[in-house]
Amino acid sequence: MDREQKMQFLFALRSRGVTDQRVLTAMESIDRGAFVRGLFSERAYEDTPLPIACGQTISQPAVVGLMTQALNVRPRDTVLEIGTGSGYQAAILSKLARRVYTVERHRRLVREARQIFEALDLSNITVIHGDGSRGLPDQAPFDRIMVTAAAEDPPGPLLAQLREGGIMVVPVGQSDAVQSLIKVTRTETGLEYDELCPVRFVPLIEGLGQDG
Ligand code: SAM
Repeated sequence: MDREQKMQFLFALRSRGVTDQRVLTAMESIDRGAFVRGLFSERAYEDTPLPIACGQTISQPAVVGLMTQALNVRPRDTVLEIGTGSGYQAAILSKLARRVYTVERHRRLVREARQIFEALDLSNITVIHGDGSRGLPDQAPFDRIMVTAAAEDPPGPLLAQLREGGIMVVPVGQSDAVQSLIKVTRTETGLEYDELCPVRFVPLIEGLGQDG
């Protein structure tokens, strides 16, 4: 990313409401170009979602920024991400948290994300091939959970794996319609729900991808 591209990238984030300096610094330090391949690589710094392998997408940078900001990650947090996709979101989370677990149902995306994390020396990310709708019971509870695929409701197993005081951000709604980004906070007494903004994500699908 050259200087001009970086200025435009950060300007687009700020103008969409990403104002948390820690999030902006993390996003400045991770080159989105490393996560986009082939034809679309020259559009990596545009504020737009782009296609990746397995019919999936890398999210729009402004949406990545807003979701990361809403998650309010602290330096000692353990974060679970569902839907590794290209790995871009997990890479940004890894700059803010102590440890990131990210789960993806497509084996090819898992393999490619691992390669990128290794090349970028992002050693606090663990990529797991599996069905993220069940969460990661062995590593639970989590301080923060981010779901980057749309569910009809916040998945019960993920809510159960959220630590007290923890925050989960999840797009909720039918996959072919506009969905709402929901922030769920686990308090001493139960769960609090806040609706943040309209979003559009590919669906959260139970089970593994066709590539195993
Ligand atoms: N966070 C990604 C990034 O930074 O590139 C973008 C995620 S993409 C919008 C959604 C991803 O969720 C896809 O890669 C899809 O395969 C994955 N996914 C959908 N259902 C899943 C499930 N049950 N478990 C794990 N991954 C899932």
